[in-house]
Amino acid sequence: MVEQLLRLIPSVHEVLGEKHIAQMIKQYDRTMVKKMVTEAINAFRQGVIDGQYTQQDYSSKEAITNWIINDAQGAYKKEVYRSHRRLINGTGILLHTNMGRAPLPQIALQRIGDIGGGYSNLEFNVETGKRGSRYETVEKLLLTLTGAESAMVVNNNAAAVFIALNTLAYGQEVIISRAEQVEIGGSFRIPDIITRSGAKMVEVGTTNRTYIHDYGDAITEDTALLLKVHKSNYRIEGFTEEVSGSAIANLAGEKGLIVMEDLGSGCLLPMESYGLAHEPTVKEVVETGIHIITFSGDKLLGGPQAGIIVGKQELINKMKKNPLTRMVRIDKLSLIALESVLMLYLQNKAQEELPYMQMLSRDIKELESRAMAIKSGIEETLGQQISVEVVDELNSIGGGALPKEKLPSIAIALTSPCMTATKLHHSLRLLETPIVARLKDDHVLISMRTLFDEDYDKVLQGICYIINKELSEL
Ligand SMILES: *Cc1c(COP(=O)(O)O)cnc(C)c1O
Repeated sequence: MVEQLLRLIPSVHEVLGEKHIAQMIKQYDRTMVKKMVTEAINAFRQGVIDGQYTQQDYSSKEAITNWIINDAQGAYKKEVYRSHRRLINGTGILLHTNMGRAPLPQIALQRIGDIGGGYSNLEFNVETGKRGSRYETVEKLLLTLTGAESAMVVNNNAAAVFIALNTLAYGQEVIISRAEQVEIGGSFRIPDIITRSGAKMVEVGTTNRTYIHDYGDAITEDTALLLKVHKSNYRIEGFTEEVSGSAIANLAGEKGLIVMEDLGSGCLLPMESYGLAHEPTVKEVVETGIHIITFSGDKLLGGPQAGIIVGKQELINKMKKNPLTRMVRIDKLSLIALESVLMLYLQNKAQEELPYMQMLSRDIKELESRAMAIKSGIEETLGQQISVEVVDELNSIGGGALPKEKLPSIAIALTSPCMTATKLHHSLRLLETPIVARLKDDHVLISMRTLFDEDYDKVLQGICYIINKELSEL
């Protein structure tokens, strides 16, 4: 019996010739499809040997082929599902590190399309016909926006911190407060970066209190640099003492040392206009006399992944000559995006055009009416099968910025008599355009603040689709 059934299993070649599989090959790589088909055949064969599939259920070659096609199609869908795609952020966290941080403004996307789709003057000076610098415009924009003497751009802020320390403190000592030994996740820890850069870390002060004399007492002839790290993703409260950037800069000035600050987020505009706490702008930090300042492109700045270094020309020139700098070079598409975003700041259009800033400025009334529209849309379709409540909630900025700040916001809270909140929460993620919501107590929360205009309809339809599907399967 088993022998007979095994003999009915089609060959890989035969299955690849089937209509549905041929269709898959058109959309996907042949080698990948072949691998999926081979795995499906092996799975069926194993099932026969294990007695899971018998001749009673699979009497013809056609039936077996269909099983294999089905299985391969499932694997294919999973693969496609895993590839990069857009999702709906219903978490209310604006700069979500796992969801790509800052969404890019239209102008950046247009320019990436226009310029990236062809050849460009990336490193070509059209006036002279000679080799040009890929950084020139971005650097000029940064100087105007921050008031710094010099600027450079690398792949991300982690690289910026590393290159700065490697260039300026290799084989020497770096003094840092014990309150600023930051970990930002993804295995970026300041102490490790200092060590890997080739510098020696000298810790001063305590977790809650560090004084200027702590820095002063630790200076030796091996000291190269005083490092300040912005507490971007945490706060220390209570009985605390922190030394200001300008005080450290003064000390460094007296002793002929370099002073550097890793700002983390690095914002260019005051955040108070959104009702948030003051976050020092890069310009303000430049004014404190800090020599080297590093920050991210995709946090509060609202641009692409990038690491930005601004400060003293002499020091930045050294970094540009560091052979490791080439290894952390920013890609041309990110550079085009960064240039576009910095231009928006220069034109005073950042607040209008940067998606996360648009989300920041949405007022409660607007969010409420959006929520009400979704609520009535869902209730019209599903009636008693779901309960939608419009609730107050608090959102956070994310991206390791302003950790204590909460934005008053509005969410819809879903509960359904036909499925558990856990299942609904999971099903939302499995939609063609996944919706990432939050699970709180026994309901599913979808925040209104982080939805794009085109998301509202998808949220409405997605919820109705899930509940209707569940009802049809009951
Ligand atoms: C986010 C952050 C970094 C790392 O920046 P990336 O651009 O993510 O590499 C480094 N230091 C601080 C303080 C940060 O907040």
